[in-house]
Amino acid sequence: MTLEMTRKTMRVAKTVGECRQVRQGWRANSETVTLVPTMGALHEGHLALIRMARKQADRVVVSIFVNPAQFSPHEDYNRYPRMLDADLDACRAAGVDLVFVPDVAEMYPPGLNDITTVLPPAWLTEQLCGLTRPGHFTGVATIVTKLFNIVQPGWAIFGEKDAQQAAVIRQMVNDLNMPVDILTHPTVRDEHGLALSSRNSYLETAAELEAARTLPGILHRIRDRVLAEGTLGTCRVMTEATQDVRAGLSPEANRLLSIEYLEARDDKTFRPVEELQPGVRLLIAAHVKTEKTGQGSVRLIDNLLL
Ligand code: AMP
Repeated sequence: MTLEMTRKTMRVAKTVGECRQVRQGWRANSETVTLVPTMGALHEGHLALIRMARKQADRVVVSIFVNPAQFSPHEDYNRYPRMLDADLDACRAAGVDLVFVPDVAEMYPPGLNDITTVLPPAWLTEQLCGLTRPGHFTGVATIVTKLFNIVQPGWAIFGEKDAQQAAVIRQMVNDLNMPVDILTHPTVRDEHGLALSSRNSYLETAAELEAARTLPGILHRIRDRVLAEGTLGTCRVMTEATQDVRAGLSPEANRLLSIEYLEARDDKTFRPVEELQPGVRLLIAAHVKTEKTGQGSVRLIDNLLL
């Protein structure tokens, strides 16, 4: 059978053993593999990563696993959107070769609290998202390590949308000499500039959407000023941009929006910077209160490279 013929049938593996078996068949044929790890509820952002993977290697593996280890107790693990049938259809249409969909018991047989974990360095995790999501990046690093060991890909693709996550993974792969190349894909946005996210499905009212769109709005306003005026001090410009964008919001959207952080980092080192100039990445996280669903609020993140 040729590669094209075997590609027509997408495989779905629920266990580590099934996944390894498919992988071994590919190794016997010297076929290369790219992994795209996801938590499902696939959207165009995920599909862009899958298309990039398709170009990279002979075989594409997508993992779909809502990883409890990266959610804090007060977060949305239970209500995180799950739509496996639609995800499998999307993967099939995108030419994915293998979807790995383990359940929690398959990934954490001894239970979440009794497993070996991978601890990324404090300087990288005790900032930005790590401050309000303690343990989050340990959960991410641990599950990604497990996926790398199970799938043994030559490449793995992550989205720039989760820039701190990509930095953590790159650091881990370097520090632990993991034999996988990490690639990133630019953030995919909707027609209003909002970064696509599975969590956008929580946004319902016009005011909630308006509040969510302020994240890219603030980032672009800062970038426009740096492009127009050259290098600028970080603090004042970020405060002014936030005030300007908020001043243009409806009172309702303003009420729903609370910004958790707006920070600037050197894109190569992920260290804080005092001046805004090319090579600096702006990162923002915010909460939008969700009125209709009665589920509290949605936490959204975004970032932009100057
Ligand atoms: P998630 O399912 O949210 O864990 O995301 C799986 C992968 O898709 C991660 O590497 C994300 O960074 C990436 N991703 C999610 N949303 C986007 C987007 N809008 N653009 C590009 N990549 C994305």
